[in-house]
Amino acid sequence: MTAITTGDHLVIRVAAGDPDRDPSLSTAGFDGPIVNVGPTGVPALEPLIAVTAAGRTALYTHCSTADLESITASVEETGDVDGADPDAVVSHAPDRNRLPTAPLPGLRAGDRRVLGACSWRRPTSVADHKAAGGFAPSDAETVLTVGNSLNGRGWGDLCQDDPLAETWRTARATDGDPVVVVNGHGSPADTLLLSSAPFEVLDGASVLASTVAADRIIVYASSEDDNAVKTVSSAVDTYPDPAAPMEVVTGPEEYRAAEPTMAIEAIEGNHRLEARLRPPGPERVGLDGRPTLVHTPRTLAHLAVGLREGIDEQTRVMTVRGDVDSVATVELSETQKLSELVDTVGVDGSFKAACVGGRFGGITRDLDVGIGVEALNNADLGTDGIVDVLSDARCLVEFVGQRASFAAEENCGRCVPCREGTAQLASLLRNVYDGEFDAQAIAELDRVMASSSICVFGERAGRPVRTAIEAFTSEFKAHAEGRCPAGTCLEPLEA
Ligand code: SF4
Repeated sequence: MTAITTGDHLVIRVAAGDPDRDPSLSTAGFDGPIVNVGPTGVPALEPLIAVTAAGRTALYTHCSTADLESITASVEETGDVDGADPDAVVSHAPDRNRLPTAPLPGLRAGDRRVLGACSWRRPTSVADHKAAGGFAPSDAETVLTVGNSLNGRGWGDLCQDDPLAETWRTARATDGDPVVVVNGHGSPADTLLLSSAPFEVLDGASVLASTVAADRIIVYASSEDDNAVKTVSSAVDTYPDPAAPMEVVTGPEEYRAAEPTMAIEAIEGNHRLEARLRPPGPERVGLDGRPTLVHTPRTLAHLAVGLREGIDEQTRVMTVRGDVDSVATVELSETQKLSELVDTVGVDGSFKAACVGGRFGGITRDLDVGIGVEALNNADLGTDGIVDVLSDARCLVEFVGQRASFAAEENCGRCVPCREGTAQLASLLRNVYDGEFDAQAIAELDRVMASSSICVFGERAGRPVRTAIEAFTSEFKAHAEGRCPAGTCLEPLEA
């Protein structure tokens, strides 16, 4: 089949989300202009049908096979895209090559550059990706130039928040054949890209392999992400002329398995995952002792899209979840604010706070903060690209207590500051329920963990507690006096 991304002809796109989890919509038995596309990033809208013709798209949410039948019949009968009572209709350029913004949760705003293929192109269609400018080779100097201005995305990236090119130059100059690892473990945004835009990710990996003369590309993902693993495996099989052989390897579901050196351990087949001491970093001594570049799908997709479209105006792919009307992964300009991100989905209840930056992000009441790295760092928030929204029905002491307990249970145990520190942190938080709130001891413990842990797991494990105490001191004091202002955590936390 030819590419479906351009032109005035009718296209009916069916985004069923993860077909293994939601089999309610089947396209079997239909023919004509109906194509299956990947997930949108907004699971609550799916199964989603987008009917497009002549610069107009009608969006139908929560569809079943019967809905597809009636929508198809309506389009055939009337010739209109919106004849079957759509949830939204938007106008756009006829040759638009990405899902348009629409007045629906998660789609209200955004650039969808890196997410451009999601729900608009068939994930493993070579024709669709080629029509969007994909598979284009780039010379090493151009790749390094883009890499000078592009930062790594996510805690699974070797260069999180840092420019990429210096690390690439180091790997290229180190003895041994380099390896490129696509670390797709753990982040909803990365899972989405592997499920819905795998060629974008593989393009980035391939040009990087060419630039550093790597002879192996490994896509690493959690064994639990079935749809992502299946889709990217199919994309690997059909990718034309990669710069190095590609393969897919899965690892355990554990959160810590996303840390770059633990990802390498998992790929090597080690059952006990422990972070490796640095220096030397993986860019010098990594997989099987070879120079290894570990980057997230987000980083590599940004590289591929940046090479095609330029990087003057950079974007960030972020997932907003928690007490929201719809969980969504969206792409916004780096100049936008956290408030705009939350507005794309709406809060379920009254907004109280947000944990910004994933599992060990920072707690804030203030959403008037930019989503760029500098703004988030200045506000003591995290840059992992995940924002958990908390309504006023939430207890912050309970929330950060759960995060501390998680850290105590999930750390790899290799270094004392993290292994013992997270256990002490959880204990200090339990003491609050017994009337003892020692903010100074918590602050000192956080400082030691942040400055002397081997990897970012321990460095950041105390951040939710520290920032919550700064923003909600009165709630901690109230708990020490036997009151929970939110009225939700009357029982002490479990160990
Ligand atoms: S900081 Fe935690 S997760 Fe990292 S090496 Fe130390 S014990 Fe393991």
